[in-house]
Amino acid sequence: MNREFDVLIVGSGAAGLTAALNLAETRKVGVIAKGALGEGASGLAQGGIAAVLEEGDSFEAHVKDTMVAGAGLNDRAVVEHVVGAAPRAIERLIALGVPFAEEGGALHLTREGGHSHRRIVHVADATGWAVQQALEGAAARHKNITLIPDMAAIDLISGRHAESFSTSGAIHGLYAYNRKKKRVETLTARATVLATGGAGRAYLYSTAPRGATGDGIAMAWRAGCRISNMEFMQFHPTCLYNLQVKNFLITEAVRGEGGLLTNPRTGERFMPAYDKRAELAPRDIVARAIDNEIKRDGLDFVWLDISGKDAEFVRGHFPNIYEKLLGLGIDITREPIPVVPAQHYTCGGVMVDLCGRTDAPGLYAAGEVTQSGLHGANRLASNSLLECLVFGEAAARDINEHWDGLAPPPAIRGWDESRVADSDEEVVIQQIWGEIRRFMWNFVGIVRTTKRLERAKRRVDMLRQEVHDYYAHFRVTPDLIELRNLLEVADLIIRSALSRHESRGLHYTLDFPETLDEACDTVLVP
Ligand SMILES: Cc1cc2nc3c(=O)[nH]c(=O)nc-3n(C[C@H](O)[C@H](O)[C@H](O)COP(=O)(O)OP(=O)(O)OC[C@H]3O[C@@H](n4cnc5c(N)ncnc54)[C@H](O)[C@@H]3O)c2cc1C
Repeated sequence: MNREFDVLIVGSGAAGLTAALNLAETRKVGVIAKGALGEGASGLAQGGIAAVLEEGDSFEAHVKDTMVAGAGLNDRAVVEHVVGAAPRAIERLIALGVPFAEEGGALHLTREGGHSHRRIVHVADATGWAVQQALEGAAARHKNITLIPDMAAIDLISGRHAESFSTSGAIHGLYAYNRKKKRVETLTARATVLATGGAGRAYLYSTAPRGATGDGIAMAWRAGCRISNMEFMQFHPTCLYNLQVKNFLITEAVRGEGGLLTNPRTGERFMPAYDKRAELAPRDIVARAIDNEIKRDGLDFVWLDISGKDAEFVRGHFPNIYEKLLGLGIDITREPIPVVPAQHYTCGGVMVDLCGRTDAPGLYAAGEVTQSGLHGANRLASNSLLECLVFGEAAARDINEHWDGLAPPPAIRGWDESRVADSDEEVVIQQIWGEIRRFMWNFVGIVRTTKRLERAKRRVDMLRQEVHDYYAHFRVTPDLIELRNLLEVADLIIRSALSRHESRGLHYTLDFPETLDEACDTVLVP
């Protein structure tokens, strides 16, 4: 089956839907999502969106805070552009009906770690959900937007897939697996926008949604695009350790209100030995300390204990956490919470310019899938939804401005299944998936060494052959598509980490603990 759109967007989160809405007045747009439309990270965002909206705050201050967090690796021109575009992006969301919290007739702004001023607009503690609902509603109402859930992109289509073979490198759409009809379809367009989110699921513990398997990064890499800064993975220090519930965050406010971190083996509080601010040290220091305790003593988790506080106080301050954990048999007013750090955000990705253009003609990217130059070596809280809004709009504008220069798709060869059979061993996929996530967690996690990274690299190389054989012999399934991408992305993360001979921002290695004077991006060229 073949479907043609003017523009094809892969991903229905904040970045993809923003691009779609900004194109739909002039173009027929198809938006695909590999599961339900609202299943990306956008709907999970709790905190809010950063923008300079109040007297006393300034663009310079937001730029500075972003650059300090990014450890000097940010591209200043990009930071200035995004920060300057933020107020307008918030206005667009308000026009779509996002009910941002207000106080005294003005937007209520909160403050988050790393921000020198109150500048976070929010909808209680469920900002992402409100933004996602507004964008999805507007897209669903637009006659020029076709929303296609349950359609998993497999690979980008280039001139090599055309009946009139060409090596121009231009992208004309993609092959995708229709999960309902259980068949591969050919979707073509003049421009394709990758808005597939991050790659957090390469790690055993992650707050990212189930589908964050780096599909867009892997597809762009296979299509010849450069990938950058993949070593910078942001970890949240305290995620619930539970075999059933894998991505429940325990807010940092629990430590802020007196929660103590203890080692289950010794029963001792350990943070004072790492930092004089103890449990109130910055996120990355706490994450590293927990990681060290876990690795040194072979633990599964550490305890976060707020039971020393008055029970009423705990229930009043953390009603959601209290209820959720009580449902899992943990009464946090009486007992400690088992926690581990968890992957939280992918700073690196597909290299794009200020217009969201990638290296391949006709291929754009926006949001967490990209390395735009905004975040540098560490993301400043609440800058990521902002990045989706600004770059989604920029990509749409560039597509419209350069429409006549974008090549109409040629006739494309259909997906060839003549030499593959149905898989007889799905267990292989689950096994390899688990292996990748475990060695990425143990060897390519918060604290790295060259030896551990090399160990991980050897495992990736070994599994690559197995996955390649499997992919070559069996019909694609959603799990196989994700596994292939996860392995590709794991390889990109390890190679990036191995090539950085310093510690900077989120990349911390015991073999190179110093930060070099010059800040350089890691750029992998296919
Ligand atoms: C728990 C949590 C809290 C957060 N809190 C905040 C916050 O307060 N503020 C902030 O700024 N940021 C926050 N973030 C980060 C922010 O939510 C994300 O960076 C942002 O939402 C990413 O949006 P996106 O549009 O790039 O991708 P996503 O919203 O993740 O959407 C990805 C889309 O791509 C689709 N997709 C992926 N692969 C394929 C494929 N192969 N084929 C078809 N479709 C595909 C998915 O189905 C999905 O529709 C948080 C993240 C998490 C996990």
